[in-house]
Amino acid sequence: MSDKTIAVFADTAEAYEGLCSGARALGGDPIALWAGGEAEAKRIAAWGARVVYVGEIPEGALYEDCALAFQQVIEAERPALVLACASKRTQCVAGRLAVRLGAPVVSDASRMALDDDGVETARLVYGGAAERVERSRGMAIVLVGSGVFEIDEAPAPGAVERAEVSVEPGPIKVVERCKRQEETVDLGAAKVVVCVGRGIQNERNVDAARRFASRVGGEMACTRPIAEGEGWMARSRYLGVSGAVVRPDVYVGLGVSGQVQHTVGMAESQFVVAVNKDKSAPIMKQCDLGLVADLEKALPVLASL
Ligand SMILES: Cc1cc2nc3c(=O)[nH]c(=O)nc-3n(C[C@H](O)[C@H](O)[C@H](O)COP(=O)(O)OP(=O)(O)OC[C@H]3O[C@@H](n4cnc5c(N)ncnc54)[C@H](O)[C@@H]3O)c2cc1C
Repeated sequence: MSDKTIAVFADTAEAYEGLCSGARALGGDPIALWAGGEAEAKRIAAWGARVVYVGEIPEGALYEDCALAFQQVIEAERPALVLACASKRTQCVAGRLAVRLGAPVVSDASRMALDDDGVETARLVYGGAAERVERSRGMAIVLVGSGVFEIDEAPAPGAVERAEVSVEPGPIKVVERCKRQEETVDLGAAKVVVCVGRGIQNERNVDAARRFASRVGGEMACTRPIAEGEGWMARSRYLGVSGAVVRPDVYVGLGVSGQVQHTVGMAESQFVVAVNKDKSAPIMKQCDLGLVADLEKALPVLASL
């Protein structure tokens, strides 16, 4: 299977590390399709992929306009699978490629296996309570979230080639670009994740948790109600079936109950610590170290460590 080519694409250079690792874990050789600058193409090649880049996105064009150029590279390379890191923009590219190439798209895949017939993918359904397994024959386009693939040790850097095709502006023109209000964070790369749940109770305690996270070199994360209900943290920081997936060395849950919709986003953590005042909270059965304590008392201690 090592002769199988797997084309990978993303709209940020960082995302290629996971995609290239994933392609190798599936028994394939990654070829990275990149729309952007040559310097970033060289960075991507360092993760062990041959990079075919189609040049910068021209002024006034959308990232999605790279679909036509990617299509031509895919038709020339004939990969067994196309893997993409899911974002709003790559989803649009995947849709356009699917129509042009007559290929199926699978979104939110949490695991997959490639064989001579095609690809078998699994994704969580019913809020994470069940898993649906699907089989696609022939080449499919599979979208995965960041953190789904474990980062491997990259082999020697791949070659960088400029494709003969370039990105042509489509019918939609960009007239203005504004700075994004919400912060972006790559939780998938964090070695230590400090995650706050509703038991944190107020923003003052979120700040104390933040101090603790910075002392232990951790990245802050939260449950969905903290981001979407309370609005105390950015949506990009919540973990779970509809949020980010992490696999850190250490996950510390502060006032997190451990509902399945959340735990699918942290179940691959190496070591789980939970602080909860309820000893029968579900997370207490899933942690390696559980501290039954009121955060009002435990947080000042943790924050001053
Ligand atoms: C379709 C669907 C998708 C969903 N997707 C997601 C998702 O992606 N991510 C996600 O996180 N959730 C998701 N949810 C919500 C999920 O089901 C849970 O409701 C949520 O994860 C619970 O968040 P929590 O643990 O912060 O709050 P709670 O369940 O309210 O738990 C709070 C915990 O804090 C403890 N506590 C309270 N006070 C203290 C204190 N003073 N000291 C110590 N401990 C204390 C309590 O004992 C409790 O265990 C989804 C739900 C649905 C229906």
